[in-house]
Amino acid sequence: MNLADIKMLGDLLSTPRKMVIIPHKNPDGDAIGSTLGLYHYLKKAGHKAVVISPNDFPKFLKWMPGNQEILNFERETAQAKQLIKEADVICTLDFNHLGRIEQMQPFLEESKATFVMIDHHQAPSDYAQIMYSDVQMGSTCEMVYNLLEMLGDLDKIDADMANCLYTGILTDTGSFKFSSTTSRTHRVVADLIDKGADNSMVHNLVFDTNTPSRLHLLGCALKNMVILEEYHTAYITLSQEELDAHHYKKGDTEGFVNYGLTLEGIRFAVIFIENREEGIIKISFRSEGEFSVNEFARAHFEGGGHNNAAGGKSNASLAETTAYFMGLLETYKTQLGQ
Ligand code: 5GP
Ligand code: MN
Repeated sequence: MNLADIKMLGDLLSTPRKMVIIPHKNPDGDAIGSTLGLYHYLKKAGHKAVVISPNDFPKFLKWMPGNQEILNFERETAQAKQLIKEADVICTLDFNHLGRIEQMQPFLEESKATFVMIDHHQAPSDYAQIMYSDVQMGSTCEMVYNLLEMLGDLDKIDADMANCLYTGILTDTGSFKFSSTTSRTHRVVADLIDKGADNSMVHNLVFDTNTPSRLHLLGCALKNMVILEEYHTAYITLSQEELDAHHYKKGDTEGFVNYGLTLEGIRFAVIFIENREEGIIKISFRSEGEFSVNEFARAHFEGGGHNNAAGGKSNASLAETTAYFMGLLETYKTQLGQ
């Protein structure tokens, strides 16, 4: 973020504004943590702020301070549209192009508001007048912290904000494990704990919320895992029948894709999840090292993300999608072997 952008944002925030804050569809810990963290800050600073999510978010995030005030665009469409129409400023967090908010996209494109983007995904599009994009950052929550520092407002962070920002840093860094975790990340987290983040409580609330059916679904996913040693690849499938049989709820498959990478020699892990309601196969890609799943998802599955974590989708059947995927691997054999 350059000085001109910081000054522009500082000027914009110097008088009370009507602000709308938006995470990506199917928001994760970083999307909800960063939008709520910013929401608390803006409200405290005297602005009229609201978080509007394109759709619902998982139960393991429904303890977060302010989560009950989030509007769900799918459910509260009329109210959400009105707020978008009236907004002076629209902040979009944790996504890089308006396609990531799907059904909300046309309403944002019509808006005359000033757009602020805060995001760490590759290849950001340029719809925002004020843009803070940094693909080196491990999480958008860490960027919100940086933004508050640039605005000279770190002392405004209270326990609620600290817990929100801590959550996104925790989930997007794989509990401080991914290579995007820096010494600076740990310093930010240390300061958030000093400001009231309860690290142990957040871990419990995010990760220790298993239900028997989720654990059984994990068992099913692991049983379905196909290991292709030749390609250093492991993939999992979950059909709609399997999800239904295990009473699948939003968020239940979070983290499943990572199990493939815990195998020695496996550098590319994928999960294909059937979603009959949307008529798609939702795909998550993870890698270790140089292989860019962002490029892979972008090239073949209408997706994108980061070098080591990306997502995408397919409109074909589950069997056709995995067959197509298997067919692609030969082309990447050298890269996967490195
Ligand atoms: P996940 O696999 O956990 O859903 O997502 C991994 C990363 O890829 C996240 O940063 C997420 O925002 C991004 N991502 C997930 N699905 C998509 C998609 O369909 N399109 C794009 N561009 N990014 C995605
Ligand atoms: Mn993120």
